[in-house]
Amino acid sequence: MEHAPLIDPFARPITYLRVSVTDRCDFRCTYCMAEHMQFLPKKELLTLEELDRLCSGFISLGVRKLRITGGEPLVRRGIMEFFRAASRHLGQGLDELTLTTNGSQLARFADELADCGVRRVNVSLDTLDDAKFAQITRWGRLPQVQAGIEAAKRAGLRVKINVVALKGFNEAELFDLVDWCAVNDHDLTFIEVMPMGDMGEEQRLDQYWPLSDLRARLAQRFTLIDLAERTGGPARYVKLGETGQKIGFITPLTHNFCESCNRVRVTCTGELYMCLGQEDRADLRTPLRESDDDAALIAAIRAAIARKPKGHDFDYSRQTVSGQVSRHMSHTGG
Ligand code: SAM
Ligand code: SF4
Repeated sequence: MEHAPLIDPFARPITYLRVSVTDRCDFRCTYCMAEHMQFLPKKELLTLEELDRLCSGFISLGVRKLRITGGEPLVRRGIMEFFRAASRHLGQGLDELTLTTNGSQLARFADELADCGVRRVNVSLDTLDDAKFAQITRWGRLPQVQAGIEAAKRAGLRVKINVVALKGFNEAELFDLVDWCAVNDHDLTFIEVMPMGDMGEEQRLDQYWPLSDLRARLAQRFTLIDLAERTGGPARYVKLGETGQKIGFITPLTHNFCESCNRVRVTCTGELYMCLGQEDRADLRTPLRESDDDAALIAAIRAAIARKPKGHDFDYSRQTVSGQVSRHMSHTGG
């Protein structure tokens, strides 16, 4: 680390950065995007070089884990150049380089990702039924994603499956998904659907399946052993006594995880969000474009971290969506 570490006003060290490298995607998941999205003009996006400078700046300030996301990160043209460049930091300040993907392009890129030092990928997959997969992703095709997952395994990548829990949609598949992950040795995390984007309020509340419910259902079949493991994020883990599987729950709505938050997010346009659930953000693109010297960038990052809020206030408990933020998940990258 070249500079003093980033510590926020609540004494939380910022060691984890998620970077969205594109707002585009080859899928249109109903809970994430509208079918007809207006994407950003190219000049708004950080270039691959700017993304590299930005990530390198954060790493020089003590970030140890970098997760690349989107939109769909693997549809960004030239993204492997970025991974290749970022890999130079591994073991030199950076402990982990990883990504969250819909899996559609993994068959193409898994070997190269592994070669760039990526060891784990998160693949989003909400159902094992071809027709339902096409319905929820609108444009996605399950066999293509399954081939991607197999390629990732062959390349030696550890795969974690992210499932958004959707009432009336994948409720009936709960045990099938758990069994499928056990058989294929994938880790598994369930995500509670969040009030993002501009999906109709009614639909969002209809789809809301609290993970407390999902957990109770799992407990009917398995012995759930709580694990102390914390990643500084919203995930909590249990082990299934009968199979030894580790299962994660990401419950931003029903569980307050903010006190141990170690992370910030940057959008593909270079906006730094200090909290997923708040609107406050800092523009990092201007300092990046203003000069080739990183001093202005580092100063802007520090000034922003000094404003990181204590937490957010999503709340479904009054049967309305309050604390909602208007941007799409594909904008901040989840
Ligand atoms: N395209 C990649 C993917 O799908 O994995 C990366 C970006 S995507 C925005 C990151 C994660 O956010 C995915 O696991 C997706 O399921 C999740 N996500 C998107 N919209 C969400 C919402 N409204 N609530 C909860 N999770 C959401
Ligand atoms: Fe694309 Fe991921 Fe959003 Fe689905 S969740 S539309 S795959 S960005």
